[in-house]
Amino acid sequence: MSVFSIAIDGPSGAGKSSVARAVAEKLGAMYLDTGAMYRAVGLYMLKNGVPLDDPAAIAAHCPGVDVRVGYGKDGRQCVYLGEEDVSEAIRAAEVSLAASSVSTVPEVRERMVALQRRIASGHSVVMDGRDIGTKVLPDATLKVFLTASAEVRARRRFHELAQKGMPEPYEKVLEELVRRDDVDTHRAASPLRMAEDAVEVDCSQMTLDEVVEAVAALARQALEAKA
Ligand code: C5P
Repeated sequence: MSVFSIAIDGPSGAGKSSVARAVAEKLGAMYLDTGAMYRAVGLYMLKNGVPLDDPAAIAAHCPGVDVRVGYGKDGRQCVYLGEEDVSEAIRAAEVSLAASSVSTVPEVRERMVALQRRIASGHSVVMDGRDIGTKVLPDATLKVFLTASAEVRARRRFHELAQKGMPEPYEKVLEELVRRDDVDTHRAASPLRMAEDAVEVDCSQMTLDEVVEAVAALARQALEAKA
């Protein structure tokens, strides 16, 4: 099979990362969670006291951010700031909002997109994010836009945070998710939108396994069509 790429975009909490990881495993491809990279940049700005409402300050600090991606023994993606493994720290709620802020800054996006393309080059890859189908991999073999209602997404995120020992009240999770959707959709630089040639999958009523199966089936179809 020749090298292929699958782009999975959509709003926060739709389950993109879980789906992308499972589909990558099924198809023997590399998996890249690009949100984790913006989260690492957000964490760096928080750690260094950079005001998140100051795009010029964020842009000025951007060259100093050393985001690296690696894979653990279990194949899980790990994210590093320099030598420090921040894979857990980037999941905190305040880092979600910081990621959303830094990702509006064009200098940050340019660096991350270049890094994402470099990591993926020469590999079959399943990448998830907000701008994969529209910007990072415009020629992807398959583009999926994964959606679910805000309430379903907030409930999932609420359980996920509780499981990780970082519980937040449901109302707060919902409010932050809607806020992030708003920032992601309305920013000037690569806003969240469905690529014209993407397939929309609404997973509000689907289990994770069902979504993985549906996306893997779409991928097989796309690969056959390409062959
Ligand atoms: O996917 P995740 O929720 O981890 O992403 C965190 C934030 O990073 C998003 O709210 C979004 O603002 C930003 N992001 C982005 N482009 C991507 C992936 C994530 O702007 N490709």
